[in-house]
Amino acid sequence: MNAAPLFARVALIGLGLIGSSVARAVRQLGLADELVATDASPQVRARAAEIGLADRIADDNAAAVKDADLVIACVPVGACAAVAQSIAPHLKPGAIVSDVGSVKAAVLRAMAPELPPHTHFIPAHPVAGTEDSGPDAGFAELFINRWCILTPPAGADAAAVERLAEFWRRLGANVEVMTAEHHDLVLAVTSHLPHLIAYTIVGTADELEDVTRSEVLKFSAGGFRDFTRIAASDPTMWRDVFLNNKEAVLEMLGAFQEDLSKLTRAIRRGDGEALFDHFTRTRAIRRGIVSIGQDAAGPDFGRPHGPLPKTEGEG
Ligand code: NAP
Repeated sequence: MNAAPLFARVALIGLGLIGSSVARAVRQLGLADELVATDASPQVRARAAEIGLADRIADDNAAAVKDADLVIACVPVGACAAVAQSIAPHLKPGAIVSDVGSVKAAVLRAMAPELPPHTHFIPAHPVAGTEDSGPDAGFAELFINRWCILTPPAGADAAAVERLAEFWRRLGANVEVMTAEHHDLVLAVTSHLPHLIAYTIVGTADELEDVTRSEVLKFSAGGFRDFTRIAASDPTMWRDVFLNNKEAVLEMLGAFQEDLSKLTRAIRRGDGEALFDHFTRTRAIRRGIVSIGQDAAGPDFGRPHGPLPKTEGEG
């Protein structure tokens, strides 16, 4: 545990999975003298107060950011502009304003013009999450050994960037700095495209005529089950990701469709060598992810497997 608070007052806007995880970690690690939080939803605010997510739950965004040294918008990308408008007149001079959105260039475009010049706007994206939403879904350890990407605009104050980087390092994350445009291209292939594929496959399986829904559920462990986890992700969040990272996603989708056509041709031609070579290359990528600690090495994603059934006559 780190004893010295990094900020006198931190304000969090949005207390879903990410906001409530940041809140829990800030409190457990003592990173702020005071943590103030709010959410657009009265039910979420009430629940946050009930489970003690912050020192104080404010009624609205304006009240939450008053005198805060660090403000983080933990809301869907499509809500970032409205948040910036609601907080702009109430920000303390010198305050660092950030977000956690999964898309960066659109957030920069939406928030930067709204914020006063006496504040430091440094967008960020913790590349960590689960398929769950809401204030009860968060946990303090979510960011440990995950990446947090900062995308400061040109000319951003270096000391403010470093303070925000230190904040995320204290939450357990590794920090990398890049441009918003590069972030969006990288995440289009590592996150946005896989989600789109999962949403597609799960939808396709649901609409098949010759395979019943109960068969899909029953035999899901053949690979489908792992796609369903991703396809259960929050619809609002993912709608906003695709609306706001359109260009990069379309570019990656084009590359994906070409590769899919190549594999389709290999299957049609019975080209085992092409299939084997491709699968060997992708297996090496999975092993690379495990070797750098970004996933566990356990078979079947570490799921527990029950014991063998007892045979008749066994005691
Ligand atoms: P979430 O669980 O749905 O929580 C978002 C919360 O923000 C909701 O309680 C929502 O309230 C509230 N909100 C919406 N508009 C608001 C506004 N104008 N002012 C105040 N509060 C507002 O979402 P999340 O998963 O934490 O995602 C939040 C952000 O993190 C998104 O930008 C997402 O791209 C990013 N992110 C998510 C993940 C992930 O895996 N989930 C990972 C990394 C980054 P209502 O329900 O009333 O709208």
